[in-house]
Amino acid sequence: MCPPINTDTFIKATFCPTDGHANPFLTNFAYVRAAERSGAKVFRHTEATGIEVDKGRVKAVHTTTGKISTPVVVNAAGPWSKQVAALAGLDIPTYSERHQCLATEPVEPLFDTMVISFQIGIYLQQVPHGSFVMGIGEKEKPSHNIHSSWQWLEFFTGELLSILPVLKNLRVVRQWAGSYNRTPDAAPILGEHPEVGGFFNAVGFSGHGFMIGPMTAVCMAELITGGVPPVNIDYLSVERFEKGELVIEPSVVG
Ligand SMILES: Cc1cc2nc3c(=O)[nH]c(=O)nc-3n(C[C@H](O)[C@H](O)[C@H](O)COP(=O)(O)OP(=O)(O)OC[C@H]3O[C@@H](n4cnc5c(N)ncnc54)[C@H](O)[C@@H]3O)c2cc1C
Repeated sequence: MCPPINTDTFIKATFCPTDGHANPFLTNFAYVRAAERSGAKVFRHTEATGIEVDKGRVKAVHTTTGKISTPVVVNAAGPWSKQVAALAGLDIPTYSERHQCLATEPVEPLFDTMVISFQIGIYLQQVPHGSFVMGIGEKEKPSHNIHSSWQWLEFFTGELLSILPVLKNLRVVRQWAGSYNRTPDAAPILGEHPEVGGFFNAVGFSGHGFMIGPMTAVCMAELITGGVPPVNIDYLSVERFEKGELVIEPSVVG
């Protein structure tokens, strides 16, 4: 499956034949176009700067291009989720944390499985045009820093070569950083906030928001329109932190 892997570095492995990959840029823009085809109006380059709340319910959103009267707001602001909740006077336990990754030059196909190490937190995949895209989960202080660093590159390559020494001569063509939006239990917060009617959170996705985004959207749409989400999301409510009912998932990489 992955012949070059250094089998001295692990005891057991699993293989998931239904694992897939998608380009997040192409996917996001495809969703935007599909939403517009269905009648959604997308305000590009527009910042939400205020949320009007009256008698405990959302009334309007103020933006850099004007006011939008609405009974419903979805906080899907990713790394800025805490700040957007604060616009409605709410305090949610999310914070942001820098994570870095890189892409290499394209090379001949070496293996087509995605490789994830739960021990060292590395994930990598050779994408169809030959580049490897890879990263590692590294503990950072909460911040909005999204600068990449040579210290990370040095740390990462050391860890990578311990499991895949065959990659040692690959040239890095791009390194970048983004923010994970974290919660205290690394699981998202989904649902209407108990203190402000019409204010829905879909935040705190850590390193898995791209893959669970589509199902999250279906669940949120059902909740907002009074339907029943296809999967139970009650246990992901913001109240779980006060009640001490954290969702602890040990098998998380990144
Ligand atoms: C290095 C790295 C690797 C990752 N790898 C994976 C992976 O392999 N698989 C996976 O599933 N996930 C991965 N993730 C996580 C994934 O990218 C996030 O979980 C996901 O993007 C979260 O989606 P979101 O829509 O909640 O937030 P975002 O994608 O961050 O979108 C939030 C949007 O809100 C906008 N916004 C913020 N504030 C305001 C405001 N006041 N007004 C208007 N707009 C505002 C922002 O501009 C942004 O466009 C990775 C993340 C990083 C950093």
